[in-house]
Amino acid sequence: MLDDRTVHRLRGLRVLVGNTPLLAIEYRLDGGPPRAVYAKAEHLNLTGSIKDRMALHILRRACETGALRPGGLIIEATSGNTGISFAAIGRALGHPVAIFMPDWMSEERKALIRSFGAAIHLVSKDDGGFLGSIRLAEELAAQTPGAFLPRQFANDENPVAHATSTGPELLAQLRSQGLAPTAFTAGVGTGGTIMGVGRYLQREVPGIKVHPVEPANSPTLSTGHKVGRHRIQGISDEFIPPIVQLDALDAIIAVDDGDAIRMAQALAHQGLGVGISSGANFLAAVRLREQLGDAAVVVTVFPDSNKKYLTTDLLRDEPPHPDHLAPRIELDGFRGVNRVCDVCFDASDPASAPALATLTGRRP
Ligand code: PMP
Repeated sequence: MLDDRTVHRLRGLRVLVGNTPLLAIEYRLDGGPPRAVYAKAEHLNLTGSIKDRMALHILRRACETGALRPGGLIIEATSGNTGISFAAIGRALGHPVAIFMPDWMSEERKALIRSFGAAIHLVSKDDGGFLGSIRLAEELAAQTPGAFLPRQFANDENPVAHATSTGPELLAQLRSQGLAPTAFTAGVGTGGTIMGVGRYLQREVPGIKVHPVEPANSPTLSTGHKVGRHRIQGISDEFIPPIVQLDALDAIIAVDDGDAIRMAQALAHQGLGVGISSGANFLAAVRLREQLGDAAVVVTVFPDSNKKYLTTDLLRDEPPHPDHLAPRIELDGFRGVNRVCDVCFDASDPASAPALATLTGRRP
């Protein structure tokens, strides 16, 4: 049961989370005919990333179930965007927030978390890096009465956030253009996006392909463990998260991190200031579009903006590589498919069911 103050604050946050525009990005490959792939502009969320959807949904559910009580400490281990989202949304709901993250993440991420008023605990490689962050978060929670651990890597509400917002939104947006998706592709961090959107689209669009993306330089999904290094922050951590079920998905697409950087740089030159994983997702979408043929409608997400990478290789010249796809793609601008509706909806909220049914052409 939610108190009036929490309901009021959740409503305010809902206006700034999700319901993002869908972009049709036009390109030519090797000077060929004009084509397009679609991407949800998730960099336009409250804190500039897709993780706001997950954080808002998990915190709302935790308030509803009583797992998070007024004033309770929110503790999360994260490689960055999740920490920023929990910091902003947790503080907006009136909670203290403590974030554990590896110390090698970008300076912008650390500063942003602090700027929202959350405590940040940096964990070195020697102290266990990412897995050490998770262990330390669990230890603090065990010692803190009333603490709430969202556990984004294992929490089923993470994919639910996408199955009830990102997925229905993009399907409604495509249908508003008379289109149906042929394939969805996205990089895997926690796997919330690929599993949640994937599961929703597999139910709604029989035969749709759902392809996870990983860095070619560090293929955790293909090998089952951490190998090599890569620069696509936000995807491919050190293990396969429990919410990822590879047998429910189609083939993994591997993207070189340098190629992803070059693609993100090219997107920025079109006015789309997106992060490195957006470059990787775009390359995966173009590859699928080329493989699946002329009728294919391929959709992906731009998970975050370029603002957190201003001190990284995203702003440096990337050495050319003969296998890179980015230099073969000529971008021709983009069209926007508008937001779904002025009143934000959430399919897990019964009050939104009629609006959602109208938008997706489906009975509640
Ligand atoms: N890109 C970026 C920049 C991210 O921060 C994340 C989240 N870690 C992802 C992609 C992957 O999203 P998900 O956790 O839903 O798999």
